[in-house]
Amino acid sequence: MSVNQLSEDAFYNLIDDLNSKGTTVVAPVRNEVGMVQYEKVTSSKDNFAFDEVIGRYSPKDAFFPQHETVLRYREGENGVEVKAEEPEINDTVLLGIRPCDAAAMISLNKVFTWDYIDNLFTERRKKAVIISIACNEADESCYCTSVGFAPDGKEGSDLLFSKIKGGGYLAEALTDEGETFIANNSTCFSKKDKSVELEPIAEVTDLGVNIEHIKRWLDKKENFEHKVWDDLAAKCVGCGGCTFVCPTCHCFDLVDEPYGDQGKRVKNWDGCQFDHFTLHASGHNPREHQPQRWRNRFHCKFKIYPDRFEKKGCVGCGRCIRVCPVNLDITEAMIEITAMES
Ligand code: SF4
Ligand code: SF4
Repeated sequence: MSVNQLSEDAFYNLIDDLNSKGTTVVAPVRNEVGMVQYEKVTSSKDNFAFDEVIGRYSPKDAFFPQHETVLRYREGENGVEVKAEEPEINDTVLLGIRPCDAAAMISLNKVFTWDYIDNLFTERRKKAVIISIACNEADESCYCTSVGFAPDGKEGSDLLFSKIKGGGYLAEALTDEGETFIANNSTCFSKKDKSVELEPIAEVTDLGVNIEHIKRWLDKKENFEHKVWDDLAAKCVGCGGCTFVCPTCHCFDLVDEPYGDQGKRVKNWDGCQFDHFTLHASGHNPREHQPQRWRNRFHCKFKIYPDRFEKKGCVGCGRCIRVCPVNLDITEAMIEITAMES
């Protein structure tokens, strides 16, 4: 695969060029309250935040929106007519997401193509090019290296950009789609200069955890009701913030919204930390208490994802730690379980 480079100016020209061709560009932007989010950008003059460690929310909603209509229905003379929603899906470039978020897209893709192909997710992914920028800075919540990823990791990206000392980026194509992207935007790229020097890659704290050991521990039936869940999750208020910001959390709810003889079915993000997430119509709730919900989230990341998809459910982005209003830290559970016998 080819390695090219682009200057700082060419990087911003690329955003304008893509927009002028009608491509949707999603990039990290600082909003009016100072929060960095991944948003559709329309010009190189937008309030970009490519140097921010990571956005508050993950970029997953580019493929899996927080809310969308999936079908519409109408009661007619011959029964109920159902029409799947077919939104226009534009060519999209996710520009400047972090390598951990790109890796998370592979895990999400596994879920949405598992026992049912989610056309809306898969079509959006097919029409997108993912360009990550390697991290030159990490904060105290980042722990990608402890779960097998890296600040300059290549998993899930079509292109990896790395900052060049003095300005601009090295552009490494990682897939055929990445290679085609460079060919289609060749005016912004030039051949790699031999003397090019990269900015140092971020140093990420090593938690000293053992993911395989954690998995073995979770596999043991007797640990399902272990008191560690009560101890760790006692202060969780069930706000669901951790699930909404997580790039691999994928739960959603389907709700019918009727009006008269017609209506629509909508798909909304849901979260396993909400008390009503597993509430049955009978009133029974198999995860009645917050520690059970917290255990489920931990199992999902470190046991269910690896068992079902041979992928990790956690990429170490640290968002759940940053967002938690009661400072609950998933790495405390990882460290504590690593110290226990499996
Ligand atoms: S569990 Fe936390 S650290 Fe892991 S991917 Fe989700 S938000 Fe990031
Ligand atoms: S963000 Fe914190 S308090 Fe909210 S559900 Fe997650 S762990 Fe619980």
